[in-house]
Amino acid sequence: MLEFKNYKELMSKLSDEKVCREAMEQWRWDGEPFCPHCNGTKPYKLKDGKTYRCREKTCRKDFTVTVGTVFENSKIPLSTWMAAMFVITAHKKGISSLQLARDLGCTQKTAWFILHRIRYIMDEPNPEPLDNIVELDETYTGGKFANMNRARRKKYQDLGIDNKTAVMGFVEREGKGRLTVIGDNTFKDMVRKNVKKEAIVITDQHTGYKGLDAEYAAHLSVNHSVMQFRDGIAYTNSVEGFFSCLKRSIIGIYHQVSAKHLQQYCNETSYRYNTRKITDKDRFTQTMCNVEGRLKYKNLIKS
Ligand SMILES: [Zn+2]
Repeated sequence: MLEFKNYKELMSKLSDEKVCREAMEQWRWDGEPFCPHCNGTKPYKLKDGKTYRCREKTCRKDFTVTVGTVFENSKIPLSTWMAAMFVITAHKKGISSLQLARDLGCTQKTAWFILHRIRYIMDEPNPEPLDNIVELDETYTGGKFANMNRARRKKYQDLGIDNKTAVMGFVEREGKGRLTVIGDNTFKDMVRKNVKKEAIVITDQHTGYKGLDAEYAAHLSVNHSVMQFRDGIAYTNSVEGFFSCLKRSIIGIYHQVSAKHLQQYCNETSYRYNTRKITDKDRFTQTMCNVEGRLKYKNLIKS
């Protein structure tokens, strides 16, 4: 297993492609390689030291450890992928392709490609509904245009940020968070899709949430207009903190996010939020074990 204490040590070990490949084989296969085409076990290694051939009579295909992962079909060396993985997963607010290109010494085009691939595994497919006490709220990523002066409004419009792009945020108290673009859904539909009926939901007093008390264990609401921010368990500070992570990364790092790509940035912010309590090293290693397409949060959070 590749052992390292920090980024510097990791970098000194990643100078050798062979070390990277062996580390990745360990992370992905845990000593038991299998064929990504047919799941056949015990393939044999060819003379080049990196290609495996499937033993199954109906398959017989060749593969390397990157086949079936987000690293597949690229000319980027594994050492670059792994350095990128560490840098991207360690940044608390995300990293721009320009900065990543500088850090890795590659072109911005390559950095953009790497970011795109790694962001893909930050998505959680078919997530379980949240439970217990769930704070939720909605936000508009472009800010509310009506409250802006003309110059600021123009700035956002020029950036292509659509003020109709509403995002709903959910935070399970002491647990994980999720950000989802609302699109054509009603607020209540969003809650139904993302929160278990047994949960206690906490919202502000927006009329869109009225009636949730009939469907959920309880519905508590916070009246922001009279500065009532904290009343027993009825507060929404966690989800507001979560929104500020999203805004910091969109406004501070990425500068322009089109409505089309907003969900991806929401996923990335959720990934960072949900892994905030583990070390950079663990986050890196656990994400490296998840490079087969999409990230499995369950594995990532258990640590
Ligand atoms: Zn096979």
